[in-house]
Amino acid sequence: MAHDLLVLNAGSSTLKFALFEASEARQTNEGREATHGLPCLLRGEIDLHAPAVQGHDGALAAVLERIDRQLDGAPLAAAAHRVVHGGEHFSAPVLVDARVLADLHRLESLAPLHQPANLAAIEALERLMPGLPQIACFDTAFHRGQPWVAQALALPAAVTARGVRRYGFHGLSFESIVAQFARHDASLVEARVIVLHLGSGSSLCAIDKGRSVATTMGFSALEGIPMGTRPGSLDPGVLLWLADHMALDTRAIEHMLYRESGLLGVSGLSADMRVLEASSDPQAARAIDLWVYRIGREIGSLAAALGGVDALVFTAGIGENSASARARIAAAAAWLGVEIDPAANREPRPRISTSASRVAAWVMPTDEEGVIARQALALVARHPRVTGRGSS
Ligand code: ADP
Repeated sequence: MAHDLLVLNAGSSTLKFALFEASEARQTNEGREATHGLPCLLRGEIDLHAPAVQGHDGALAAVLERIDRQLDGAPLAAAAHRVVHGGEHFSAPVLVDARVLADLHRLESLAPLHQPANLAAIEALERLMPGLPQIACFDTAFHRGQPWVAQALALPAAVTARGVRRYGFHGLSFESIVAQFARHDASLVEARVIVLHLGSGSSLCAIDKGRSVATTMGFSALEGIPMGTRPGSLDPGVLLWLADHMALDTRAIEHMLYRESGLLGVSGLSADMRVLEASSDPQAARAIDLWVYRIGREIGSLAAALGGVDALVFTAGIGENSASARARIAAAAAWLGVEIDPAANREPRPRISTSASRVAAWVMPTDEEGVIARQALALVARHPRVTGRGSS
């Protein structure tokens, strides 16, 4: 009988995959709360730009070959996907059908770097394994319970009515961090925490008692802090100026904002923090200075939204791996009472702040695939016929 769940996290440059054992017993007993309790049988990542890989279909075929070897020919129960934008309508995981897919395609312009890649993976899998139940899990969903003021934009009501509002992203990552709180320190469950997801794309989330109350990304994945190739928040006057004085059309502006700005744009060197940290080029140093400064200011803004901060949590590629980035950000937040223990930060230990620090600081690994698996299995548990288990 089919037990196993394939999780796909399709980005613009990589396809991450994981295979979880999801037997019915686990699904009902553990699946609902244990993000990290599901046994992961296989995990990996394929570079979509590698010469031997031919787009999403080629990458997916390679993943399925490895899955087939692992499962020894046994069928999959279902596949679950990270989908960046759920818009106004999708605030919980959903079983994908033609109508859902059409709705999700309509949101592509709001996340042009990610949404097309996410949906391409769903469509490629449908071609390769027709009829396999596929479940979409959304990066926006975690933020849907935020107070109205945190989601609203001060625009005319007619524009807001068309769905132009702040959504927030990286929700699957933030949820995976919240799921780790109790294991590290019971007090985090009730605390005011700022989680810093610092990867190629980055955002910060203010979490009060496990719930998102504010986040730095908004309508699109452009708002907030500077990222690898995105500028973060920008005076909208700059967009008007670019259109009027550089004769750029919207596609050209989009390209600049998603692909040519951020750490890459400022340094003129690279979007990769490792390259910038190793460089002696003064522009690389300036790019990092600007990045740290802007993160420091956003921490202040989220601290205001929370009415105080009890802990910071660093996660994702830069957050988990760069001791120097963590130390500099903690120094920018020293006024809040953050004090880093340099030895703990170098290791890093999960807790990297000193025992005297008024605000605790932690490093926790993100596990988006684990959260997707848990959400998908909860959906299957509610609707057993999704995987044909209702009749077995
Ligand atoms: P995404 O999943 O958004 O593609 P990741 O969370 O994997 O991104 O983060 C990727 C980024 O993490 C890279 O661009 C790189 O800048 C950064 N990174 C990874 N390892 C290190 C390291 N040891 N030191 C500094 N930065 C790192």
